[in-house]
Amino acid sequence: MRNVNNDCLFCRIVAGDIPATVVRETEHTLAFRDINPQAPVHVLVIPKEHYSDVVALAEGDPTLAAEVLATAAVVAETEGLLTGGFRTIFNTGGYGGQEVFHVHAHLLGGTPLGPMVA
Ligand code: C5P
Repeated sequence: MRNVNNDCLFCRIVAGDIPATVVRETEHTLAFRDINPQAPVHVLVIPKEHYSDVVALAEGDPTLAAEVLATAAVVAETEGLLTGGFRTIFNTGGYGGQEVFHVHAHLLGGTPLGPMVA
């Protein structure tokens, strides 16, 4: 049985309790538009199963971690980001600026993003 946290915002999106604009769904992953986009394209890619962050996911289910990246790659293509390029970020923990503790990849693109800054 899949690990679910009923207090988790993104688990509730997976369950359909909270609306989201879904751009891709696979058996184990979901990709939806960020409600506060930081770029013309800003999509979040998550595993449907609850893992708090990318470290927990990589340790707990490396195959699922790879599926999250595969979904991000497909969304990059369907959103037209492959030509110009894009950025993928996993914010992790307090210093990393993580606010939602269900692992998610931010997929950002559609404009030049410039160098990474802390
Ligand atoms: O990496 P971090 O945890 O800070 O990012 C959480 C992201 O989830 C934010 O970019 C926020 O806009 C997004 N969010 C969302 N839909 C919600 C709640 C938060 O897209 N219902």
